[in-house]
Amino acid sequence: MSEHHFLSLLTGSFSTPSDDNPTVAMVEAAYRHHGINARYINCDVKKDNLADAIRGAKAMEWIGFNCSMPHKVAVIDHLDGLAESAAIIGAVNCVVIADGKLTGHNTDGQGFLTSLQSVTDPKDKRITLLGAGGAARAIAVELALAGATHIGIVNRDQSRGESLAKLISEKTKAKADFIPWTSGYRVPETTDVLVNATSIGLGDAEALPDIDTGSLRKGMIVADVIFNPPRTHLLRKAEEQGAVTLDGLGMLVNQGRVGIKLWTGKDVEASVMHATLATLFGVA
Ligand code: NDP
Repeated sequence: MSEHHFLSLLTGSFSTPSDDNPTVAMVEAAYRHHGINARYINCDVKKDNLADAIRGAKAMEWIGFNCSMPHKVAVIDHLDGLAESAAIIGAVNCVVIADGKLTGHNTDGQGFLTSLQSVTDPKDKRITLLGAGGAARAIAVELALAGATHIGIVNRDQSRGESLAKLISEKTKAKADFIPWTSGYRVPETTDVLVNATSIGLGDAEALPDIDTGSLRKGMIVADVIFNPPRTHLLRKAEEQGAVTLDGLGMLVNQGRVGIKLWTGKDVEASVMHATLATLFGVA
């Protein structure tokens, strides 16, 4: 028997645009660190090419792939089954290929949950969620499934906010309310965890969600999904108020770890992935 192994396990990402997606760097760092003979290939797949890309992945016996914009919903038509949270969220960002069958998962919410669990258990907690887009939807469903009692969904667009509140109330045991976003929104005192799941702060260290930062308080957990730059204005303000903060790098790293576990069955260390991203974003 040869001691050499020239055939790697194949994983990757299908999205467009794809050039700014740092997942490949952190996943390959984990593969290298743990000696996993696998590759992660960042692929620019246009909308009309998704079916062919998936057929190709199956033909080449990939073990799985991530999918991002604009494929998170469209990919579902090509799958054989969905994990519970992905079915409720209605979007998939991680596909496992095993025995020729494709199963869709949503690791965004699970990544957030794992990151949050490093500081608290969401069970019986009250959450205030800023945003009702894809990331917010994934986070709300995962926190509800993990036992959060109430989720207040603060959003600018009423129909998106209401539809997420309805989804949580109907499909999980948690209660959820839509709260129209008014300028200088005061975060309720009863909030245990505030999450910014909007895109405010992406690529802009000074952008701040339009809330009364004086309503953030000591002991509250304030989390941001924004990973670039990781130290957002919101997190800096929250620290000034004595809150515990969680940055978006933790969510990104943990959704990568969940994906690797689903594909390879291996638990990989967060530290090597975190260090890779921190170096990339100049915060090492
Ligand atoms: P969507 O476009 O689906 O949703 C964007 C959300 O932000 C909506 O709720 C939108 O409100 C809100 N929003 C945007 N601008 C404003 C504003 N000026 N004032 C108030 N609300 C605003 O995006 P996603 O949910 O897919 O992504 C959101 C962010 O999460 C992105 O920056 C992305 O990079 C990040 N992300 C991070 C991950 C991680 O691992 N750390 C994983 C996935 C995403 P409205 O409905 O009113 O338009």
